[in-house]
Amino acid sequence: MIRREEFDQLLVPTYNPSSFLPVRGLGSRLWDREGRERIDFTSGIAVNVLGHAHPQLLDALRGQAGELWHVSNGFTNEPVLRLARRLVDATFAERVFFCNSGAEANEAAFKLARRIGFDRRGADCYEIVAATGSFHGRSLFTVSVGGQPAYSSGFGPAIGGIHHVSFNDLEALRAVVTERTCAVVLEPVQGEGGVVPAAPGYLQAVRELCDQHGALLIFDEVQTGVGRTGELYAYQHYGVVPDLLTSAKGLGGGFPIGALLTRAELAAHFSPGTHGTTYGGNPLACAVAERVISLVDTEEMRARVAQRHAQFVERLTTLAERYGVFEAPRGLGLLLGCPLRDAWKGQARMLAGRAGEAGVLLLQAGPDVLRFAPSLIIEPEVIDEGLDRLEQVLRVLTESPA
Ligand SMILES: *Cc1c(COP(=O)(O)O)cnc(C)c1O
Repeated sequence: MIRREEFDQLLVPTYNPSSFLPVRGLGSRLWDREGRERIDFTSGIAVNVLGHAHPQLLDALRGQAGELWHVSNGFTNEPVLRLARRLVDATFAERVFFCNSGAEANEAAFKLARRIGFDRRGADCYEIVAATGSFHGRSLFTVSVGGQPAYSSGFGPAIGGIHHVSFNDLEALRAVVTERTCAVVLEPVQGEGGVVPAAPGYLQAVRELCDQHGALLIFDEVQTGVGRTGELYAYQHYGVVPDLLTSAKGLGGGFPIGALLTRAELAAHFSPGTHGTTYGGNPLACAVAERVISLVDTEEMRARVAQRHAQFVERLTTLAERYGVFEAPRGLGLLLGCPLRDAWKGQARMLAGRAGEAGVLLLQAGPDVLRFAPSLIIEPEVIDEGLDRLEQVLRVLTESPA
């Protein structure tokens, strides 16, 4: 009999998983071996955009599994071409590079930005400007660009030539962007950093600043992409078009895949041999992702996410007022964060743990924010049921404070 305790005996302790050990999922619910059910407002951290065990995704995976799993990039394959066609048709992009995760998509974006700077403006054009509090992945380059020193310190010299400025602070950005800047990278809504949306006008102003200085604008949409904010990608919500865009998490609906999207003229700087990855464009991953995009990129889905957003905001605002543990939610679509009030600061992990015990799984976004990232097709009744369970926890905690 497998037990949670074996994690500590067998795995490198990079994580501290919950005592709840899920063995089966369906829609927005998960079950453990004993049959205890929990409502899932986490989607595997904004990954399972269509919930667990969606019949259409099972069909895509099973169908492809009987045809072709892997062929190497010495060949192309039908699923990768179909997926690329879909992404190009649905976005600003003309070219796509596939990989397996968000960190790899960003790694590719940062390397491409530096290569373009080098080719166009010489060896001194390699600086990257990023936001404090940002998260871009766990490889050495991506933790160096990410604005959370806790993730980059203690690993020897970080990658150089990176500046960090406050998110949503245009003047701070103006002060560091120069002719040496090859790219500015931002999350349209900072996810791990606390669910902080870009302020109105900020991204547009950053776009103009980049154009003035010949710097590329990279949007890391690993968390905000694939319908999460209501639009297929959040840049479409803001009406500001980046030069490079990275996607992963929701893209495979639970099957690992990442992508870098860009224009043909920029993509040309990655000529054959300059970059690559064994599994990138793998037929299994691409077959699933193509089905994900076909189901997410519809008017019906936009309307559905807008309705669910309104339902969450209304109820969370009531809970915020009634219990005083957190404030009303911020965020877009189904990426919402409730900042904790002063008396509860630092306790997001504890609160998420208590909610889990009460049968509703939540995320934290740093120590001070509770994050909600449910499936895009979660049913209204399940939202209510999950928030009832959360309310139970809030009631108990505020009656007899910890
Ligand atoms: C999760 C995340 C990443 C890293 O993705 P991985 O697949 O874990 O490598 C990068 N950027 C953002 C904005 C993320 O939320």
